[in-house]
Amino acid sequence: MPETAMPRSPQPRPAPCPECRLIKAAYVLVSRAGDRVAARGWIAAMGRHHRAVH
Ligand SMILES: [Zn+2]
Repeated sequence: MPETAMPRSPQPRPAPCPECRLIKAAYVLVSRAGDRVAARGWIAAMGRHHRAVH
């Protein structure tokens, strides 16, 4: 049987770049603090970042 050349990781990469990590960490922080407005802001920032960089 031929092996497929694509290794599958059990879960998608959590953070492909340092800025993603930063944004995600900030999001988790404000999310835990209950700041939904800031959390939405970080989600938007992540969206912009993904469009710009990834
Ligand atoms: Zn990124």
